[in-house]
Amino acid sequence: MFAVSNVKINKPILIIGQGLSGTILAHQVLQSGLDVEIWDSPETHFTSSWAAGGIFNPVTGRKLEATWLADELFAFLFPFYEGLEKTLGQRFFYPMPLFRPFANEEMKAWLLARKDQIDHGFLRWADEGVWVSKSGWVDVASLLSASRQNFEARNIYFQKTFVANDLPGLLEKYDRIIFCEGFHGQQNPFWKELGFLPAKGQLLKIKSKQPSEDYILNKNGFLLPLGNHEFKVGATYRWDEFSPETIPEAQVELQQKLGYFQVTEFEEIDNLVGVRPATQDRRPFVGMHPSLQVGIFNGFGSKGVSLMPYFADAFVGEWLGKKMVHSEASIRRFSHLFSV
Ligand SMILES: Cc1cc2nc3c(=O)[nH]c(=O)nc-3n(C[C@H](O)[C@H](O)[C@H](O)COP(=O)(O)OP(=O)(O)OC[C@H]3O[C@@H](n4cnc5c(N)ncnc54)[C@H](O)[C@@H]3O)c2cc1C
Repeated sequence: MFAVSNVKINKPILIIGQGLSGTILAHQVLQSGLDVEIWDSPETHFTSSWAAGGIFNPVTGRKLEATWLADELFAFLFPFYEGLEKTLGQRFFYPMPLFRPFANEEMKAWLLARKDQIDHGFLRWADEGVWVSKSGWVDVASLLSASRQNFEARNIYFQKTFVANDLPGLLEKYDRIIFCEGFHGQQNPFWKELGFLPAKGQLLKIKSKQPSEDYILNKNGFLLPLGNHEFKVGATYRWDEFSPETIPEAQVELQQKLGYFQVTEFEEIDNLVGVRPATQDRRPFVGMHPSLQVGIFNGFGSKGVSLMPYFADAFVGEWLGKKMVHSEASIRRFSHLFSV
């Protein structure tokens, strides 16, 4: 059985991985007054965070439903990133309206006929589509770089790759080891039984004077204004190959998306590629192993930006005996997989 840990924590926490998950968890640990060290593999390690669009958006699907736990997550997200910008002295949080055009006249009629049932406070209806509030984007690369500098200045960041043989000595030195390894987590012997379902994604960075820079456009993908007439266009999904290279089919798909957005004149300036740490039941993996002082903070799929702050707070709260991680995110749901 999993139990809420209510012991006093005297030794540092070791976090493995400085992608978005390890970074956000490390900041939360520091905010809670605990000591932390972070190990991260060299930059050549293939990640998700360095390719991310960084969008947060509380509305999902053709039926414009609010996302899972949207009220809780989005109330938490704004003060979290605003506070972190102050701590790091760096801007990376950009609230921005998001526009979802109706797919076609038929869909428009279908949605308008159900407007009263659909309405959930994140939507403002217009003739051509809906405006989504509480949306925007995080410049994940800037957040990660500024955090790394901050951790290095505190002497708590180390460029090191964890291997399982390291474990016995580490468990003496650290109170607990939390794995934030992104899709590499599926190779970790502690977590390989969990249902990872990684999804490779590709994204295009362009320069164009055609689209508006005032809002994110979301129609079969997204067009995200970065400023200075630069945009991110995304994103693709693949489940059959996970090489760190871009592939031509994905490139074609992204160019087609530009067609939907009626962008015909543009200059390609970059291609980004990563693997999302998605899961079979589309819920994160958060929690401690039932019998060892090792834990996992992973499985945030394509919604890391909006999910991680809330769940980092809940996870650290659980260690301190103050909170419980939501049952749908906690790895308590897999207790049958762990032999104790
Ligand atoms: C194309 C694309 C677009 C996306 N767009 C969005 C978006 O708009 N909004 C959104 O919320 N999300 C988006 N995502 C998803 C987002 O990137 C992820 O949710 C998030 O970044 C996952 O972060 P992570 O830290 O779990 O994993 P990763 O970013 O993969 O980081 C894992 C880290 O752990 C390190 N590591 C792994 N194993 C070890 C080890 N043994 N020892 C030491 N270090 C190790 C790696 O080097 C890496 O630094 C997108 C993803 C892709 C690919």
